[in-house]
Amino acid sequence: MPHNWIILCDFDDTISIGDVTDRLLERFGQAGWDELETAWKLGEIGSLACLAGQVALLEASPAELDAAIAEIAIDPAFPAFVAAAAAAQISLTVVSDGLDYAIYAILARYGLDHLPVVANHLVPATERGWHLKFPHAKPLCRTGSGACKCAAGERLASLDGPRKILLIGDGSSDFCLADRADFVFAKHSLTAYCREHGIAHRVIPDFEHALAALPSLLKQPVPSPSTPVSF
Ligand SMILES: [Mg+2]
Ligand SMILES: [Zn+2]
Repeated sequence: MPHNWIILCDFDDTISIGDVTDRLLERFGQAGWDELETAWKLGEIGSLACLAGQVALLEASPAELDAAIAEIAIDPAFPAFVAAAAAAQISLTVVSDGLDYAIYAILARYGLDHLPVVANHLVPATERGWHLKFPHAKPLCRTGSGACKCAAGERLASLDGPRKILLIGDGSSDFCLADRADFVFAKHSLTAYCREHGIAHRVIPDFEHALAALPSLLKQPVPSPSTPVSF
């Protein structure tokens, strides 16, 4: 029987060591990508607009992109965490405001590409050009993300009757889902966000700690289903 918890897990800097999109831009980004990054950090544009512009500035062949992606590693304890979740019959979905192509390629290297992924869709545009599509965008989500994690969480938590959401993440694209989650394993700026907003959380520096913390979370009594958020 499926567990009453589901796990939604960020990818960049949570599962992966480093931010994949940043690594690719540093290597293959044409002039202008860092100005977009600055405009996003200043709150002048949302991450969807930022990512769309940045990916259009990537100049790399598929083979070059693959070679760069092949150098990116994941948290060494993540495979054990996936196994622990599976053993407890808890579904785990990767929710990311990054590039689906890179996520699948990296997970495949660790035999983890069976995990469902909600992310932005990278497609080739020309021989050395790329285009990012946003099948999970929600224009009204206040994060301005390419992939809205709160909408994904809402949908996944109601699939088989109400489920509690454990969010694991680290950054601003996780904020909207943190508001909706029943518990958060947080690091980096997500920790401060949870503190400021009174969201139940635990500081988790890596998956070794997440793996150790999971059993006690699952033993908590089942609260009544959360009230759905509206958009
Ligand atoms: Mg992240
Ligand atoms: Zn959202």
